[in-house]
Amino acid sequence: MAQIIDGKAVSASVKAEVAEETEKLKEEKGLNVGLAVVIVGNDPASRVYVNNKKKACEAVGFQSFEYALDENTTQEQLLDLVNKLNSDTSVNGILVQLPLPKHIDEKAVINAISPAKDVDAFHPENVGRIMIGEYSFLPCTPAGVMRLIESTGVDITGKQCVVIGRSNIVGKPQAMLLLQKNGTVTICHSKTKNLKEICLGADILVVAIGRAKFVTGDMIKEGAVVIDVGMDRDENGKLCGDVDFESAEKKAGYITPVPGGVGPMTIAMLMKNTLTAAKQQAGIE
Ligand code: NAP
Repeated sequence: MAQIIDGKAVSASVKAEVAEETEKLKEEKGLNVGLAVVIVGNDPASRVYVNNKKKACEAVGFQSFEYALDENTTQEQLLDLVNKLNSDTSVNGILVQLPLPKHIDEKAVINAISPAKDVDAFHPENVGRIMIGEYSFLPCTPAGVMRLIESTGVDITGKQCVVIGRSNIVGKPQAMLLLQKNGTVTICHSKTKNLKEICLGADILVVAIGRAKFVTGDMIKEGAVVIDVGMDRDENGKLCGDVDFESAEKKAGYITPVPGGVGPMTIAMLMKNTLTAAKQQAGIE
């Protein structure tokens, strides 16, 4: 039976580290850390994410600035706001909640965020930095996955690592991070042949597909580390992951649950990136 990787506990320890450093920055350097979160429209899921980010900011001692814009906001108005935040010294990190309404070009908005304040690490400059291993910020979800793997004590060096999913926000950066830690990495996607055989060779399996319970126990190598990034709904509408937890936990050595695995890590890593941004802008790091 697998050991459960407790994402809530690991994320709480990351947030505690951030809170402690934030307090020290305030006391010793008189520095406040600020995160601006911009939301356009009324998407209920986005609203929940933004509220959670606001709460996390309060918990670690950051100032949070929320900009809730009307669904009909034009691209020009949004770009004006981003430019204003780029030059606002009380704002260290800028996060524009995705998805944006269809009439707004997401790429144009991401590209307008100053790379120094791009705490989601979606700007092409930051994406490129990850490729060459000279990054300041890592995308929050893959960075959270790395912390979870680290928490197991399993050394990635020389391990067969399989990532299922090749999205720009999860799969691709995840593969790069595992490679940087000396894993031997295979990236799988919807056109991959022999997915089961490839998965069975994985010492570390990261699944980011978006299909409920897709990876089953018979696809998992005995003792593997299994990280489930998926956030899906099962046939009863209950939150679940891309991995069929029940069968997978019988084979895996370590496994993340959904909820309570990768999910809580994403916001914790966002807080960490914002702190890093504040320190860099103050010339401390
Ligand atoms: P995405 O952009 O839709 O990408 C999904 C990837 O899975 C694609 O690369 C796709 O391949 C691949 N895929 C789809 N069906 C497949 C199949 N049958 N076999 C193998 N690969 C297949 O999704 P995403 O944004 O990366 O998110 C993935 C999941 O993670 C979602 O459930 C999302 O909700 C969740 N998520 C969670 C967090 C968190 O904080 N916990 C953060 C981000 C995302 P192709 O490229 O060939 O189409």
